[in-house]
Amino acid sequence: MRIDRKRLAQSIDELGKIGETPRGGLTRVALTDDDRRGRDLMVRWMREAGLRVTVDQMGNIFGERVGAERLPPVMIGSHIDSVPTGGKYDGQLGVLCGLETIRALDQHRVRTRHPVTLAIFTNEEGARFQPAMIASGVMAGKIPLEDAYNARDKDGLRLVDELERIGYLGAEPCVPRPFRAYLELHIEQGPVLEEEGFAVGIVDGIVAISWSRLTLHGVQDHAGPTPMRIRHDALVAAADVVAGVRSIARELGGDVVTTVGNLTVQPNIVNAIPGTVTLSIDMRDPRSETLDTARERLDATVKDACAREGVRYELEHYWRVPYTPFAPDVVAAIERAAAATGARHRHILSGAGHDAQYMAAIGPAGMIFVPSRDGRSHCEEEFTPMDDIEHGATTLFLAAVDLAGRV
Ligand SMILES: [Zn+2]
Repeated sequence: MRIDRKRLAQSIDELGKIGETPRGGLTRVALTDDDRRGRDLMVRWMREAGLRVTVDQMGNIFGERVGAERLPPVMIGSHIDSVPTGGKYDGQLGVLCGLETIRALDQHRVRTRHPVTLAIFTNEEGARFQPAMIASGVMAGKIPLEDAYNARDKDGLRLVDELERIGYLGAEPCVPRPFRAYLELHIEQGPVLEEEGFAVGIVDGIVAISWSRLTLHGVQDHAGPTPMRIRHDALVAAADVVAGVRSIARELGGDVVTTVGNLTVQPNIVNAIPGTVTLSIDMRDPRSETLDTARERLDATVKDACAREGVRYELEHYWRVPYTPFAPDVVAAIERAAAATGARHRHILSGAGHDAQYMAAIGPAGMIFVPSRDGRSHCEEEFTPMDDIEHGATTLFLAAVDLAGRV
């Protein structure tokens, strides 16, 4: 049994037209009119496939295909929102491979013991409303519903008002629901599968993440009359920290990655010595202990850089998620399915967060990766070859049948 490659390719094309950019990418930001059009098309396809469609208080959409017994479903999910000028594969591909799984079940007249449910999560990207993965976070009980409703975009619009405006403020409670397994297919967003010639990645877990915020207080002064020997330049210390953060990864080696992604300079003008700089530090590794070491190195790096330049600082380690392992029985089912497709496959870790991370907190979850060309994502160049998509989608389909139990 396989999925229908042509039907899947057509769906990718059709949904990809909603919010398509001139260069073939996708701008379908959460709770915009294009997001509504995308949701409407998905709901129509789900109803045409005979699913019972419901919407919860966070606008998450569920479509259930009944099982032979009253059991918790095998849930297949992802998201259809994108970042601005993103690609047509991140998120949407997982949802459409889930829909194709449902269609293939019907086509092959497969009855399953457990129901199979397709789930579409609201605002996964966090491009418009922070934090990312807000709706699966509420469902997992990790983010209060009120906080999510009050999240505001840059124009001050509230998430709950935008949900209502596009007609997706549902009545079903957004609470943990039981499931037999949660499955999510996603693009890798990194180079490993493509470089090594694998079509399918069996994801063992999601790396641990540490976020820190550093504020440096130097002495703002005139760029002309102030001699070099009496300067306390916050940006010079920050530059040392940026280079030092890179060194932490180089010195620790292995899989650890470290990034300074955000930096603000005050007053940020040509003729003033920077008085205040804030910057962000993102560090990730499969092993939580590595991040403990990395944080100690970061503390020392900041202390030394600030001592050299004579600036004061505050360093806050304000967010931390541990390594999220996926459920061994779900990972094993995905591995059996991948082997059955004949695709070259390997085990892999996810360096990015996904809705599956929150789902793993409330039930057995697993993920399937397909390659990203040049490792790129969140850009219009995002691309996955159809051969790999077919292998990934068939893996998803066979894993769902395995976990849902064929009768
Ligand atoms: Zn995604």
